[in-house]
Amino acid sequence: MADHSDCIFCRIIRKELPCSVVFEDEAVLAFLDIGPLAEGHLLVIPKQHHAKVSDVPTDVMAAVAAHFPSLGRALLAVTGATGFNILANEGKVAGQEVGHVHFHLIPRAAGDGLGYRWNPTEYASGRMGELATKYREVLGEDA
Ligand code: AMP
Ligand code: ZN
Repeated sequence: MADHSDCIFCRIIRKELPCSVVFEDEAVLAFLDIGPLAEGHLLVIPKQHHAKVSDVPTDVMAAVAAHFPSLGRALLAVTGATGFNILANEGKVAGQEVGHVHFHLIPRAAGDGLGYRWNPTEYASGRMGELATKYREVLGEDA
């Protein structure tokens, strides 16, 4: 397998670059984000290199997601946050800067000023049904 020598997170996994590890096993690494949106902001990554969420095999994703509950509990205990966001930026248009799939666990507290625009829109009549049908078709082909 290619060593992805230009990938900053692969270099962290290989210990070529430092990071502040909070959890590690054979498949997963969790460490502190160097540019935190809030103190204690974590990154959780698979050790296998995949660029994006949509590239990741199911078993690898399951191994990563399995640690969200315990990491989330630890985040709450360590930071005193009262909640957190789990976030993945998929592609440049969504703000992805590092091309090795990663999940942000971002501590949240009342009045912290974090967040993003969340302006719900409305579907035209029948559009939800059309979209759900398309999703089921595509997912059926991906099975
Ligand atoms: P994204 O914009 O979703 O690709 O997020 C990439 C994240 O990686 C940013 O929040 C950076 O602060 C973080 N980051 C980049 N380099 C490092 C590093 N060497 N150690 C820890 N976090 C890093
Ligand atoms: Zn990588």
